[in-house]
Amino acid sequence: ATERFYDVIVAGAGPAGATLGYELARRGVSVLLLEKEKLPRYKPCAGGITVKAANCLGLDIAPVTRSVVRGVRVTYKGHRSFTKWYDKPLIFMVMRDEFDDLLVRRAQEAGVTVIDNEAVCRIEISSQTVKAATAGKTLESRIIVGADGARSAVARDAGLMRGVDLGMGMEAETSVAGEKLVQWDSLMGLDLGQIRGGYGWVFPKKDHLSIGVGGPLRQVRRLRSGYRAVLKSCDLETGSVSRLRSHYLPVRRKGMAIQSKRCLLLGDAAGLVDPLTGEGIHHAVRSAQLAAPVIHRCLQADSPDLREYEDAVDREIMPELTAARGLARLFTWFPGLCFGLVEGHDRLWRACCRLLRGEETYVSIKQRLYPFEGLFDLLTI
Ligand SMILES: Cc1cc2nc3c(=O)[nH]c(=O)nc-3n(C[C@H](O)[C@H](O)[C@H](O)COP(=O)(O)OP(=O)(O)OC[C@H]3O[C@@H](n4cnc5c(N)ncnc54)[C@H](O)[C@@H]3O)c2cc1C
Repeated sequence: ATERFYDVIVAGAGPAGATLGYELARRGVSVLLLEKEKLPRYKPCAGGITVKAANCLGLDIAPVTRSVVRGVRVTYKGHRSFTKWYDKPLIFMVMRDEFDDLLVRRAQEAGVTVIDNEAVCRIEISSQTVKAATAGKTLESRIIVGADGARSAVARDAGLMRGVDLGMGMEAETSVAGEKLVQWDSLMGLDLGQIRGGYGWVFPKKDHLSIGVGGPLRQVRRLRSGYRAVLKSCDLETGSVSRLRSHYLPVRRKGMAIQSKRCLLLGDAAGLVDPLTGEGIHHAVRSAQLAAPVIHRCLQADSPDLREYEDAVDREIMPELTAARGLARLFTWFPGLCFGLVEGHDRLWRACCRLLRGEETYVSIKQRLYPFEGLFDLLTI
């Protein structure tokens, strides 16, 4: 049976969907948020919320922050390493079930209807409305939003994002002995040189460590051995590993449509993951914040045209993804050089810290390379 009519149906209650729900509800829009999993749900993710991302949430994440990172220990191929500290916080470490739950609860408090355990199986877009079918219901709205992650059913049915570039991350929660855990207090680990174009990480979560490895899809067969290499190089082989899982990291290319009539995509569904670091939460949240006013205006004008959203993403997010793609290439070809440059040049280390804090962007760094920024552009082709 067809149920209540909503202005907007959002598929997926991750950071993108929950933020959009909140932003729309506080503008007076009726929103139904459908989530495939039982909430709160675990997501394979390192759970690093950069200060840049935290600042754009408009929400205090202290209640779910397990550790505040101010330093990084970088290892290269398991034998060279350095540790550097910054005088301000760089990344807040969270568990995704707790963090996402905070965002979903904020959306609910603003008036969003949330139904979990209810996957969108199929969508049908007509000239006046959109139908979203789940296993037992057909729900109807004026606009549908795909915030349903890297394997978006909404994108598939809307014919969007075909051929998006994919990376893959593998992540597990690892319990280690107390004396090993304290070594990672306020410190995170990055392990370079094990996987071409990728890296491993050790993120402290107060009572355990989130350890993982990620890289381009062509390296997927090396992820498991890369993961073991990270454990070895960080002297964490004796830890007890649980929830070892992999997940896609989708990266949009310029010009790929992320909207069509009455439908748009956010976050991972739109391929907005940083190709250098794998950070996706910041752009998931920002894409929702860019989409909300556009959707609101379209509803008021009774227009199905959401192109303004894609323009906003192209203006704000794509220059960053494109510049990051160039740096990712440099890192793929010369990981040892990148390691050496950050180790030996404090100015570069501080620029990386400012990037994490949102005080600098890839584009602003590129502009400072004048007159060599053209070389940088060549890397992004
Ligand atoms: C191993 C790994 C480590 C990472 N580490 C970090 C990190 O430290 N920091 C960072 O910023 N980013 C990280 N990322 C990226 C980050 O996890 C994503 O970019 C982020 O979760 C994107 O948010 P989202 O809301 O777009 O999608 P998601 O968080 O994936 O949420 C999508 C939601 O949609 C639901 N869903 C799926 N299909 C349907 C359907 N058909 N109907 C209804 N609901 C559906 C899913 O269950 C899920 O809850 C990592 C990714 C990986 C793979």
